[in-house]
Amino acid sequence: MGISRRNFILTAAGGSIGGLTATTRAAKPPDKQGGVVVIPERQVPVLAEADVVVCGGGTAGLAAAFCAARHGAKVILLERWPSLGGMATNALVNIWHTSDRKKQVITGFVQEAVDRGGRFVRRMAHYPTKPETHEFDSTGMRVVFDRMLKDAGVRVFCNLAAVESIVSEGRMRAVLVDTKTGRKAVRGRVFIDATGDGDVAANAGLPFDFGRAGDGAVQGMTMMFRLRGLDAAAIRAHPGDAGRVFDLMRKLRDEGRFPQFLEMAARSYLTSPREPVVSYNMCPVAGNPLGEEELTRLSAQAREQVYAYVDLWREQMPGFSAAEVEQMGFALGVRESRRIRGLRTLDARMVVKAVKQPDAIGHGFWMIDIHDPKGTGHTTWVDQKAETMPPAGDSYHIPLGMCLNDRIPNVAVVGRCASSTHEGLASVRLQSHCMVMGQGVGTCAALALGAGVDMAAFDIRKLQSQLRKDGVYLENVPA
Ligand SMILES: Cc1cc2nc3c(=O)[nH]c(=O)nc-3n(C[C@H](O)[C@H](O)[C@H](O)COP(=O)(O)OP(=O)(O)OC[C@H]3O[C@@H](n4cnc5c(N)ncnc54)[C@H](O)[C@@H]3O)c2cc1C
Repeated sequence: MGISRRNFILTAAGGSIGGLTATTRAAKPPDKQGGVVVIPERQVPVLAEADVVVCGGGTAGLAAAFCAARHGAKVILLERWPSLGGMATNALVNIWHTSDRKKQVITGFVQEAVDRGGRFVRRMAHYPTKPETHEFDSTGMRVVFDRMLKDAGVRVFCNLAAVESIVSEGRMRAVLVDTKTGRKAVRGRVFIDATGDGDVAANAGLPFDFGRAGDGAVQGMTMMFRLRGLDAAAIRAHPGDAGRVFDLMRKLRDEGRFPQFLEMAARSYLTSPREPVVSYNMCPVAGNPLGEEELTRLSAQAREQVYAYVDLWREQMPGFSAAEVEQMGFALGVRESRRIRGLRTLDARMVVKAVKQPDAIGHGFWMIDIHDPKGTGHTTWVDQKAETMPPAGDSYHIPLGMCLNDRIPNVAVVGRCASSTHEGLASVRLQSHCMVMGQGVGTCAALALGAGVDMAAFDIRKLQSQLRKDGVYLENVPA
């Protein structure tokens, strides 16, 4: 049985700032009772309110909250998981790329996070021809993110999920959150959806796209994991075994007796583990990240896959006999779900042709990197084709318009749920790119509130000038 509760109207009790309660009532009760539960009108307490309410504490939301607060807005950040960072911490996705293969073109908040990261962040000197790539310790970065938001004065609520968007007279008034003590409301003047899945914007009624043209399938997901107990000297002493074990994995998989794996990555992990503890990005699954039961099943499947790899390696691969899983993602790594339609939509041409935009808020450079929606683990990154990547030394602009929409002016979307095609997202989904969006929109929200206008009406030149002052790399903006 499903629970349906749409089109609520929020009215503030007493109508004043700081009012303690709000009332929700169904504007249109469902006609049919079959398959739904009707919730009667009831009082929903107001938990908190702020100028800017950021929903989702992944890299995009962190950047948005931090930058809005830095420019004087009173900011609340809402996060469903116990800690901040989203995929970066809870799915162990721990690499930030900032270079167009010739120079660093992403700076600003990303660089601040790198600098604040201290011993938890390290430059990957070996990363071929992309010197400004950093790897970080996901556990340590949880602490760094907490400190950054605390210092910026952001009020953070973890452990609650944004579940309903209250819209009236064309503006979003509040987001309802589910907490351990019941449903509550958080009121704001601007709402930034950084949930990755576009939950808040979709709930507010903004249209969205899902998956690729044709079959609507989204990019494959990955369970990241880390191993300890590897003996690098033993691996080096048996150079022929990596190929033998890799071939065995392929043979068993093709016979249906071993799970799928990302081939390129698996081979390299077997051949050249750089350190005694290594992060593995090779365990694919495919499905709908918005389906709770399906996601539960896929997560369990992925955890089994990880142990299938490790058990085989312990048995077959010199240097791996004492390997143990040190850590697995708390959550599956999700690359794609809803893409909320915005004023501008980033597409493949804009990426590959390194298109510059008048409303640029920063640069992006990653290639169109699509992990097979069927879950084979294959990624177009392996192909390294000129037609799927901007030229080395060039980059495209990330436009503000991909985060704004033409229906609800006080709602913006940042991160992987911003407006793009399936192919455009395959580039702009990078955490560094998501943080560019977060910084641009967070700054815009605060400045626009200060100026008494909506974000889309704020003078883009003033925003760009402020972003540059805040360290954002922003070049070649067309007049
Ligand atoms: C396996 C894998 C490898 C990758 N490799 C790289 C890489 O090497 N480098 C790179 O830069 N990028 C990489 N990416 C892409 C990148 O990690 C993501 O695209 C990026 O983290 C998206 O950031 P985000 O802030 O938009 O979303 P997320 O990181 O998904 O954060 C969204 C946050 O919102 C919270 N949330 C969701 N719904 C709600 C709700 N209703 N209420 C409250 N909170 C909510 C979530 O708990 C989460 O904390 C990889 C992705 C995967 C899956």
